[in-house]
Amino acid sequence: MGVRCGLGYDSHRLVEGRPLVLGGVVLASEHGLHGHSDADVLTHAVIDALLGAAALGDIGMHFPDNDECWRDADSIELLRAAVALVLEAGYAIVNVDATIVMEAPKLGPAREQMCARLAEALGLRPGGVNVKATTGEGIGFVGRGEGVAALAIATLDG
Ligand SMILES: [Zn+2]
Repeated sequence: MGVRCGLGYDSHRLVEGRPLVLGGVVLASEHGLHGHSDADVLTHAVIDALLGAAALGDIGMHFPDNDECWRDADSIELLRAAVALVLEAGYAIVNVDATIVMEAPKLGPAREQMCARLAEALGLRPGGVNVKATTGEGIGFVGRGEGVAALAIATLDG
């Protein structure tokens, strides 16, 4: 079958009184992401990239947000379940690259922690995952601080 790529995109609203979880790492912030699970926008984009590369649909099909069992779920656990589906389908995961689009806070050392957590869940060595960050330059929903978006691409070998 050869090399396959999949694309993932997600966005969530920023609200007060929720933890800000990105790539399985909790960041210090007064605002967190609103959602049914822990709303880890980065991990959700990675899940969709994986499922896309394996032609296995999308995150909403496998982990519906109206299902009570996913309330406040740890998205890293959803990622582990998605990885199992991809491996079951006969693919090997090669690498994942991702971009977080967020106005604040700066990722700093958390970026390395996100790469490590995602790599562990994906069964990849540390260099198998890259996480980048950019801002909304003050425009759009990201620039106004209303939400956070993430994009990811996954490469599989089958
Ligand atoms: Zn999401």
